[in-house]
Amino acid sequence: MHPDIVEILLPADHIQARIREIGLQITSDYRGKDVLLIGVLKGMTLFMADLIRCIDLPLSVDYMAISRYGPGSQALGVVRIIKDLDSGIEGKHVLFIEDIVDTGLTLGYILRNLRYRSPASLEVCVLFNKAQRRLVDIPIKYKGFDLPDKFVVGYGLDYAQMFRNLPYVGVLKADVYLGLVKK
Ligand code: 5GP
Repeated sequence: MHPDIVEILLPADHIQARIREIGLQITSDYRGKDVLLIGVLKGMTLFMADLIRCIDLPLSVDYMAISRYGPGSQALGVVRIIKDLDSGIEGKHVLFIEDIVDTGLTLGYILRNLRYRSPASLEVCVLFNKAQRRLVDIPIKYKGFDLPDKFVVGYGLDYAQMFRNLPYVGVLKADVYLGLVKK
């Protein structure tokens, strides 16, 4: 285990097994359709890479990048799109892929934005769900795991851009984010 991790919540093999199940479910639900998977950089990249290999359908992927405004606007979940999708989504079956949902403010804002673009359908697939602090109701069609209200890293999730490469999800030692550990 990495020395900055206090506890592993989800070992790598649990994550991979659940992703295979989700992939099978998506394959069955979208049978006969083309599906467009959309993700927001960068946290979901590992999930996207593993999930699409478990989906046996004609599919394409596209990415957005966002930045958050200051603390005041964060309360409203307002984000700035700094890289938009490469193509339009009108008339397409869109599956939005997200690594983690906490308050739901970010995802709520992005989903409203995508709905304006008139996709044929828009569903949400979230790997890690932290429901305790939810402020905005998010219609999650596919969910990997419920997590406790703890700050986690690994499997794509970062702290200060680090720890994304851990194959498991773990709780970061408080010393690290309180700045007590020199990197
Ligand atoms: P929300 O808008 O749902 O409160 O938060 C969304 C964003 O907060 C996520 O996309 C993620 O970037 C970040 N986030 C929320 N909880 C965690 C966590 O436990 N670990 C990490 N690394 N990021 C988190």
